[in-house]
Amino acid sequence: MAVAEDLEVAPFLKGQPKKLFIGGRWADAADGKTFETRDPSTGEVLAHVAEAGAEDVDRAVSAARKSYEHGSWRELPPAERAKILWKVGDLIEERANEFAQLDSLDNGKPINEMLLFDVPLTAATFRYYAGWATKLDGATQQTSFPGSYLSYTRREPVGVVGQIIPWNFPLMMAAWKVAPALACGNSVVLKPSELTPLSALRLAEVLQEADVPDGVVNVLPGFGEVAGARLAAHPEVDKIAFTGSTEVGKLIAKASADSNLKRVSLELGGKSPNIVFADADLERAVSGAFLGIFFNQGQVCSAGSRMFVQQKVYDETVDELTNAVKDMQLGPGLDPMTQMGPLVSQGQMERVLGYITTGTSEGARLVTGGKRATELGEGYFVRPTIFADVDGKMRIAREEIFGPVLAAIPFADEDDLIAKANDSIYGLVAGLWTNDVRRAHRVAHALQAGTVYVNCYNVVDPSTPWGGFKQSGWGRELGPYALDLYTEVKNVIVDIG
Ligand code: ADP
Repeated sequence: MAVAEDLEVAPFLKGQPKKLFIGGRWADAADGKTFETRDPSTGEVLAHVAEAGAEDVDRAVSAARKSYEHGSWRELPPAERAKILWKVGDLIEERANEFAQLDSLDNGKPINEMLLFDVPLTAATFRYYAGWATKLDGATQQTSFPGSYLSYTRREPVGVVGQIIPWNFPLMMAAWKVAPALACGNSVVLKPSELTPLSALRLAEVLQEADVPDGVVNVLPGFGEVAGARLAAHPEVDKIAFTGSTEVGKLIAKASADSNLKRVSLELGGKSPNIVFADADLERAVSGAFLGIFFNQGQVCSAGSRMFVQQKVYDETVDELTNAVKDMQLGPGLDPMTQMGPLVSQGQMERVLGYITTGTSEGARLVTGGKRATELGEGYFVRPTIFADVDGKMRIAREEIFGPVLAAIPFADEDDLIAKANDSIYGLVAGLWTNDVRRAHRVAHALQAGTVYVNCYNVVDPSTPWGGFKQSGWGRELGPYALDLYTEVKNVIVDIG
């Protein structure tokens, strides 16, 4: 394990056993299995981690159920829950460097992005939901049937919540799931991705240090087809929250239907349009397009992977973006000069390179990139790639690549644009760049997407709802909308006549 001694994360990587966290204790897998997690910038093994099997999922669900029935969290006064969640935010902030290094090593992402985006947003998410713990109000209804009744609603926790998260923002995704679930009084079984299990384990320690009672949050590193599938099918799990591919999202929905009809929320794939009108501030639009597709190596569900540019400024925009890409510094996530890290795994790299081959054979024009950066060694580096003159029927314009590959597509006018942009099975995010305020709102309303960015991209805040139209998912995370995902509404009607 080639981890530098002077890293703040070194004691965690060397000391703490990478085990399952069940009922407040570290445990080996029942069958003793472990798996390797790798540093994608070198391909070397970073740590061996206990691998949860079905029996371990059962153990974790029982621990969560026990804590839920016992009421150790659910019945704490809301202000106490708020205090603890706030403290989690403080502890994450105190350990910002450590968390940043951990995800940077495990996922490959640039350390500066961790410090500017993932870590602060993680702390902010816990604090935001700390605020909601004391505001889970109901309403009274004015009934009109004869008689005197008092009718009111309560928000009650759903119960035991299974949460399955992806590898692209390992720590932040854990916060988006755990913070609202805890604010609402649920108990949790969290399964991080098998590609990036480490920061969730460190988070488990932080939650314990902040006084989240034992059993309220259980963390199970393990594989999707085994631990994830068992969690999704478990008869004692009341709700499952999932972020990942649309393909697996459908399996989750099916597992719920085939088991106990547990509540399901899904945040799935995207093929988001990022639209540049001829009247836009082109310099800003090009920066936005750059950020939209190359942030986090393009491994973002909201990546602006289809860039629609109005014909009049199409060549200029593609040229400017190509110039910006040429200077991009690739390297290991831990190097502060790195602007783009490796892809998360060999499998992901091969998948992305496969799409690049497809794009070329479909007849798209490869403007830049298109290959592995082999001079950087064995790491999974792929050069930022731009295809121009892409046709909406091509696979590179229809399927989610989840990598640094942009498809540039020209359009004539607003009607042409809206038809093309909405021609997708997905509807997570859209971006548009224009200086015409009427057009901005008109197009924003016409686009089928859960979030529309106008003259900006990838702005994320705990207060803003996140989720998609169409096959991008079910439900909205973040903001007050997440409270709907983690509570049941109960109506109480009292005859007071
Ligand atoms: P990606 O393709 O981006 O890796 P996935 O949808 O495969 O995304 O993975 C997202 C999360 O879903 C991971 O935690 C993974 O382990 C989990 N997962 C994968 N397959 C299944 C499955 N069949 N059932 C439940 N969870 C799964």
